[in-house]
Amino acid sequence: MPLDLVTIPCRSDNYAYLLHDSATSRTALVDAPEAGPIAAALQDRGWALSDILLTHHHDDHVEGVAALRDGARVIGAAADAHRLPPLDLAVAEGDALTICGEPVAVLDVSGHTLGHLAFHFPQSGYAFTADSLMALGCGRLFEGSAPQMWDSLKKLRALPPDTLICSGHEYTAANAAFALSVDAGNAALVSRAAAVEAARARGEPTVPSRLSEEIATNPFLRADTPLMARQLGMEGADPAEVFAEIRSRKDRF
Ligand code: ZN
Ligand code: FE
Repeated sequence: MPLDLVTIPCRSDNYAYLLHDSATSRTALVDAPEAGPIAAALQDRGWALSDILLTHHHDDHVEGVAALRDGARVIGAAADAHRLPPLDLAVAEGDALTICGEPVAVLDVSGHTLGHLAFHFPQSGYAFTADSLMALGCGRLFEGSAPQMWDSLKKLRALPPDTLICSGHEYTAANAAFALSVDAGNAALVSRAAAVEAARARGEPTVPSRLSEEIATNPFLRADTPLMARQLGMEGADPAEVFAEIRSRKDRF
């Protein structure tokens, strides 16, 4: 049985996630954009936090930690320990963790920030990617370089295709509009964009999303496809350069 997964809207467009193992009553939180909605979700279910996993140092991912930690083990990147809330466990790529009774792989997915982590739960089939791989998009490059983000996205793309990508923001409708501007020849994207619009019109979140669907439709994962290179007039270019071009067009979109 996969761990229970609860998606919690926070602030204007952030998401936090709760994981729960009913056998042991252990509960983990991934990112803490603000305390209020997370505390309410815990209280509704009678859950108490065992662990808090932090993806990166931005305020909209850590601001609620102080109010929520109350004995929970706070885990984040060793590389970012100086600018994260105080950590009980500092980790790096390759470290093995056990969360809610499941093994967890720590991935370095720097690019949006340096030290950005993703957490992969292979048994449940979840990956928490925050502002690295997002639904139909990827995070803006505040600290890392385009080749670095491209490498990070390739790591995530190599996870099992049925993995649920639990990302950090509800940006999908705007991401879809941009994706259509660079990849209009992609029929799977055209139909996903319509589904995203319908989901948002019903007020539903568009996360988590399936990795297989991201591989088929997310322009940032398609930088090494011939169709994408052709649509950008970049046939034969290095995929990292194609990725950089897509990212810079998104910044200006
Ligand atoms: Zn961020
Ligand atoms: Fe963010």
